[in-house]
Amino acid sequence: MYYNSDTIIFNDGKFSKAEDTLMDLYGQTLHYGYGAFEGIRAYNTPEGVKIFKAAEHYDRLHNSCNLVNIPLAYTNDEMTEISYEVLHRNNFKDAYLRPLVYCNANMNLSRPRETYLMICAWEWGAYLGDKMLRLIISSYCRPHPRSTKIEAKICGHYVNSILATTEAKDNGYDEALLLDSDGFLAEGPGANLFFEKNGVLYTPAIGNILPGITRATVLELCQELNIEVHTGFFTPDHLNGAEAAFFCGTAAEVVGIASIDRYIMTKDWSGTMSELIQQAYRLKVKGQSYSHLKAIHYAAQ
Ligand code: PMP
Repeated sequence: MYYNSDTIIFNDGKFSKAEDTLMDLYGQTLHYGYGAFEGIRAYNTPEGVKIFKAAEHYDRLHNSCNLVNIPLAYTNDEMTEISYEVLHRNNFKDAYLRPLVYCNANMNLSRPRETYLMICAWEWGAYLGDKMLRLIISSYCRPHPRSTKIEAKICGHYVNSILATTEAKDNGYDEALLLDSDGFLAEGPGANLFFEKNGVLYTPAIGNILPGITRATVLELCQELNIEVHTGFFTPDHLNGAEAAFFCGTAAEVVGIASIDRYIMTKDWSGTMSELIQQAYRLKVKGQSYSHLKAIHYAAQ
């Protein structure tokens, strides 16, 4: 359950009970998927509850709105303050925040005159669980970058994600991996991909994917931990001989991948650089030191 009779959300300028909140059934967001949103996590850290990379998430929300002409009247600071207030009013310490910018009643395919900000939160475990994932390469590709603003986090894009995840699960897999329209590895329905081969990490370049904030965090961690990482356009054949792979995203965090279609990772997860990244990420979001992981990595070289 995402809310109960006590849950407080922020909607249209005020805090109110989730169950008392009404939404216009004639809205453009509901009918056409024309809205923008974010997925953010807050963690209980030694310095209290901290929203991880709030500025980056609210920058992306502004960017998403700008790219598709959805006005957003709130500043980053205002949205961050509201987010902390939502957490506080619900007494959440480790939680997932969902800001959504939605549009007024409009059955035309024109830009909206008015938009509203909703921010809700709920307590959520790792979205894809913590066991190693078995993936299928989806029969769906990611939307073509000339068909939409692929780097924006837009509601309607998630029809593609839902189709891909549903197809994967219906075929007995844990999750899907989507290619781009040219057949290059792209991303999961709600997470970015990394794979490890010959001691180097690889991840699809920006262009046909959502530029994930967790992906950016992993790239920072690679630098800090002295792990070589390459971004580029890779075909599924590049997965041949991969030692390890993982999905990363705010909701999924860092989760290991056991296999992708017929490509089975050649190493046990434990002891890979991917696992090191997973451990470092877990500590970083919780505001804890991970400098000892560096030492282990250097010692292992
Ligand atoms: N790709 C897609 C399609 C996503 O929905 C998400 C989740 N927002 C990601 C990647 C990962 O992005 P982030 O790390 O910013 O959560």
